[in-house]
Amino acid sequence: MRKIMIAANWKMNTTVSEAKELARALIANTEMKQHVEVLICPPFISTETVYNEIKGSGLLLGAQNMHYEDKGAFTGEVSPIMIAGMCQYVILGHSERRSLFGESSQIVNLKIKAAIRHKIKPILCVGESLDENKNSLTESVLHSQLSQSLEGISNADMTCLVIAYEPVWAIGTGLAASARQADDTIGFLRKALAEIFDKDVSDKTRILYGGSANATNISEYLRERQIDGALVGGAALKANEFTSMILKASQTQK
Ligand code: PEP
Repeated sequence: MRKIMIAANWKMNTTVSEAKELARALIANTEMKQHVEVLICPPFISTETVYNEIKGSGLLLGAQNMHYEDKGAFTGEVSPIMIAGMCQYVILGHSERRSLFGESSQIVNLKIKAAIRHKIKPILCVGESLDENKNSLTESVLHSQLSQSLEGISNADMTCLVIAYEPVWAIGTGLAASARQADDTIGFLRKALAEIFDKDVSDKTRILYGGSANATNISEYLRERQIDGALVGGAALKANEFTSMILKASQTQK
């Protein structure tokens, strides 16, 4: 049984006071349910404020990225030891990190290993671009992102890792993948996990869908067998909409 996760990626949005307000609104309107994990990933500058705000609420806290070294001459970076006490999860390999900041799957692999070392659960993002999709390269792109990012990760380490399938063409565009499309592709990722690890890892790893998910389409995704939740960008910045997604998730029987 894989627990549903609804994760919010606030990206580079919200000032510290806005982040505090958004966290507060979520707590006020969200009744946490046993079978749904709700995660919020604010910008780094708001991590501590949001951490203090959500303490004891049942909401989980994550980071949107981190460096793989513990400390040193890496101007502007944030390390795993700086967030480990506050963040249970870290999003790694988001397509914006890959395309705008040149993060390769090899770098993502170092970050995953660092997160695991520091007991922060990684959410590994994978996804194909529009061109790759049009040229029928989706499966080969996903397979190489997955195998390179997870190189040297043990079956035991996989128990804490979550994967997010985020087709790049669906992120922030309003052009969400259909539930069927997402389910088929996530099914392919499960096959790849079985091949790289084994069937047990494939069956137990949570895989989320991300890309223009919102309160209107969330139930369609959650009805699909292979989809264990959503990583949400734009819709997660509106307290009412995100709350409604959580509510719909809590009404879903998998
Ligand atoms: C994301 O950036 O991870 C994302 C899924 O964004 P959006 O929901 O806005 O498409």
